[in-house]
Amino acid sequence: MPLPFEVLNPTVRRGPFRAALFDFDGTLSLIREGWPRVMVGMMVERLRGLNLAREPEDELWGLVERFVMELNGHPTVVQMARFADEVRARGGTPDTADAYLAEYLDRLMAVVQQRWDVLERGIARPAAWVVPNAHAILTNLAARGVPVYLASGTDRDAVVHEGTLLDVLTPFGSHVYAPCPADPTFSKGRVADDILRTLGIRGDELVGFGDGVVETKEVKRVGGVMVGVASAEPGETGVHPEKRVRLAAAGADIIIPDYGCQEALLRWLWGD
Ligand SMILES: [Mg+2]
Repeated sequence: MPLPFEVLNPTVRRGPFRAALFDFDGTLSLIREGWPRVMVGMMVERLRGLNLAREPEDELWGLVERFVMELNGHPTVVQMARFADEVRARGGTPDTADAYLAEYLDRLMAVVQQRWDVLERGIARPAAWVVPNAHAILTNLAARGVPVYLASGTDRDAVVHEGTLLDVLTPFGSHVYAPCPADPTFSKGRVADDILRTLGIRGDELVGFGDGVVETKEVKRVGGVMVGVASAEPGETGVHPEKRVRLAAAGADIIIPDYGCQEALLRWLWGD
C-alpha cells in the first residue's frame, strides 16, 4: 500500500527520536494564514509608491515573494530589513525595518484580530484554525514520551496568545521559544542546538516539523530528520506544489499536506 506521505530522502533515518521541534505559523496554527499576501502586497505597494519598480505586476510580486519566503522562519523584522535593502538597492531611501514591521503588523492584525475574536467568543473551535489533526500528532508524540519544543519567528506574546486560543500549548510546557518584540537575534538554529545540548541527544535523534525554509535548514544542519508541512490553500486539499518545492530544496526528508496521516507517519518514522 502506498504511504500517505511523500518520502523525499530514501535513506532518511527512522527513529526512535528523542525530541520533536515544531514551528508555529503554518505548521500548527492557521490564524496567520494569508500573511505572505499581506506582506508581499505591502512591499509591492511601497515599491510602486516610491516609483522604484518598472517590472510588470506579476514579475515584481514573484521577486518580492521569493525573498520573503526564503526568509520565512526568521524573526519577521529580518524580512523587513531585507525589504529595506531592496529599496536601497533600487536607489530609494528606505524607512527603518521597525517602521516597516509596524505597518505590516497593522495590516496583518486587521485580519488576525477577527480570527482571535471568533475563537475568543467560542464561535469557532480551535480545530478549525489549526493544520488538520495538529492536536492528534501532539497527543501521539506525548503518548510516545517524546518531548516537544516550539520555535517561532513570530513575537512571543502573539504565539502564547494564539497557541492558548488554539489549545496546542500544553504539550510544550515551558518549551516555547519565540522572539521578544522585534528581536532580530532570535534564531531557530540556536533553539535546535540548545535542545541537543540540554537533552544530551544526537542531532539525528531530533525530528522537526515545519512549513518554512529556515527551520528545515536548521534541523538538517544539526543532522535531524525534517518533515515538511506543505498545506494546500484554504478550501483545497493535498500538498501545495510551490511549498513542496521550496521545502524539498531546503532539505526536507518527508512531505505531508497536514497531520491526517500522523499515526501512519509516526509509526513509519519510528520503524514500528
Ligand atoms: Mg511557519
